[in-house]
Amino acid sequence: MIQRSRHSASGGGMQSLAESLSGIRRRFLMVVIVVGLVWALGISIVAHLGAPGFDSIPERPHVAFIVISLAIWLGLWAWPQAFPPLGACYCLLAFSHASWTQFAGPDDPLRALLFFPVVGAVFLVLNVWVAWAGVALACIIFWVAVAGGQYDLLPLPASTFVITLIITGVFFHAFNQQAARALALLAGQNATLAVVAERDSLTGLLNRRAFQERLLAFLAHVPQKTPLCALFIDVDDFKAINDRYGHAAGDAVLVAVAGALATEVRESDILARIGGEEFAFLLPATSLPDALQAADRLLHAVRGLTVESGNQLLAVTVSVGVAERGPECATADALLQAADAAMYRAKRAGRNCVVVACEAEG
Ligand code: GH3
Ligand code: MG
Ligand code: MG
Repeated sequence: MIQRSRHSASGGGMQSLAESLSGIRRRFLMVVIVVGLVWALGISIVAHLGAPGFDSIPERPHVAFIVISLAIWLGLWAWPQAFPPLGACYCLLAFSHASWTQFAGPDDPLRALLFFPVVGAVFLVLNVWVAWAGVALACIIFWVAVAGGQYDLLPLPASTFVITLIITGVFFHAFNQQAARALALLAGQNATLAVVAERDSLTGLLNRRAFQERLLAFLAHVPQKTPLCALFIDVDDFKAINDRYGHAAGDAVLVAVAGALATEVRESDILARIGGEEFAFLLPATSLPDALQAADRLLHAVRGLTVESGNQLLAVTVSVGVAERGPECATADALLQAADAAMYRAKRAGRNCVVVACEAEG
């Protein structure tokens, strides 16, 4: 029975990889937000209790930071798809908080370090050039705080902050580039694999799985009243060709037959090699009389072939069964079975001919 495969050979895999990377970033950012929240909450409580060394911290901005962080965390939890804008909002919030701390927390000589996780988050969540702008702005804000007497620092330790922030940015930039290159490489390989997975390696036609996928998709999306015909094509006495001339000659015949059938393919048609010497041809938006004409043309195209094998010229014919979608052949299985049964009647009728499925076959 024809079943839709769980993994489509289309490019969907790449999209889900990008989505899963975005999901990983979102979860990391949520952890970072929780850590920042716990830290800010702890400081606020300790400051509220009047602990020595915390009294210079204004409570309100800290409370605002906590409330907005919590709202963003809840937003990321409830609407994962809103990660890019919410992530950008958090980066802006954390950057503003770190900048404000440079001027509002003179009791903390290491507060410039707050810029490091923020810059890292911007590299991961937004883009590298926004992050570099953040690095530059963080350095400027820090130097303004130093120049304004907010820090008790000599130029040497101040320059240590600047240089380590820049080097951290370089590492994040390199990491981002590596990730982007790896993703592009995977996308390319995935596209190649998708083509390989749906093609028959000998003839280059679609394989059975790809044919079934397309047939099911067609039946699911195209209204019942749109005509649809299926052709089942089987090479006549093919075993005898193999036995007499060898498998290489048999392969050459299959390639030649596939080429002849392919000359009849319209853009909407689906042609596949679904078995050893069996081909299926799906003709969407085609009524039975038109499908019969197409089948006759295929028959003649194959009959006209001469395949070279050593110094012999091989002739080949096919038998074709034709079935039209209708009440008796509504499913993919029923349609193909009807065409297959008609093809067997063509064999019994002497081969090298076209037979239409009768209703009992549907
Ligand atoms: P009929 O006219 O009744 O269809 O007879 P037939 O000989 O064509 O059919 P049969 O099913 O007896 O033989 C099909 C042969 O196709 C048997 C198998 O070895 C051969 N075959 C299947 N796949 C390939 C392939 O990829 N290459 C070659 N060379 N032969 C193949
Ligand atoms: Mg066969
Ligand atoms: Mg055969």
